[in-house]
Amino acid sequence: MAQTVYVIGHKNPDTDSVCAAIAYAHFKKKIDCDDDYKPAVTGPINSETKFILDYFKMETPEILTDASGKKIILVDHNEMGQVIDGIENAEIFEIIDHHRIGDIQTGAPILFHAEPIGSTSTIVADFFLYHKIEMPKEIAGILLAAILSDTVIFKSQTCTEKDKRIAMELARITGLNPEEFGLQVKKAKSDIKGKSANELIMSDFKEYRKEGTRYGVAQIEGVDYEEVGARKGELIKELDAVRESQGLNFALLMVTNIIEEGTRLWVVGDGEIAGKAFGKEVTDHEIHLPGVMSRKKQVVPEIEKVI
Ligand code: MG
Ligand code: MG
Ligand code: MG
Repeated sequence: MAQTVYVIGHKNPDTDSVCAAIAYAHFKKKIDCDDDYKPAVTGPINSETKFILDYFKMETPEILTDASGKKIILVDHNEMGQVIDGIENAEIFEIIDHHRIGDIQTGAPILFHAEPIGSTSTIVADFFLYHKIEMPKEIAGILLAAILSDTVIFKSQTCTEKDKRIAMELARITGLNPEEFGLQVKKAKSDIKGKSANELIMSDFKEYRKEGTRYGVAQIEGVDYEEVGARKGELIKELDAVRESQGLNFALLMVTNIIEEGTRLWVVGDGEIAGKAFGKEVTDHEIHLPGVMSRKKQVVPEIEKVI
């Protein structure tokens, strides 16, 4: 009997979460004609993702806020702190991801594909190429955009040769220049004008849990520090409000400069852990981390070493 399977990324969806879900749903429909695969998002998409979907004239997936009673494929995450509500009453079918193995458990055996590479969209594009499934131009386009977004145009420490090789193949299919297109994508994200402090923090906010400690790490990427820096007081206050309302021990905001390739890490709540993790003093809620751009590879592992 045909059934609907939702393909969905993490809470506070980023471009990789959304584009990998759309493309993977398309892929699954091509190789499994019996079931219906639908991409979904856990909430509103960010301005970067909107730019990309508009660029390729694609629809925004439907918003799904509760997974109860549904069949679900998770892409781009596998941690309880980031997953759609109601997952304990849902059936997880598959997980396709590029993060550490987190704390999600399933009742039945599932397909779990994880690779330590720059984006989930690289994995999904690889599936198309490996299985020789024809990739429509707009699918190739959103996958390319997501790789460029997650790898910060190949500059992130998380970027691998495989990400670059697959991106070049997608660039060939779409006729786009990855560097030029990547800058357009990043500019769509770093436009902070008219956005509230809460929007800026929550559009890329992830929660982590280790033993008894729960904490959040948000990230704002831009081409300089000035614009975000000018709103530091307001952002710190909002970050602390988010921390308090979610009952987190501490919260971090990575203000990342993709040109200079560094991060100003802003800290609220119990700041001792962050200071210890990086061996630096927290001054006016801030630690300067030159060379740091990746939350999952350069911030979360350091934090968790000292929790
Ligand atoms: Mg993501
Ligand atoms: Mg990703
Ligand atoms: Mg990301």
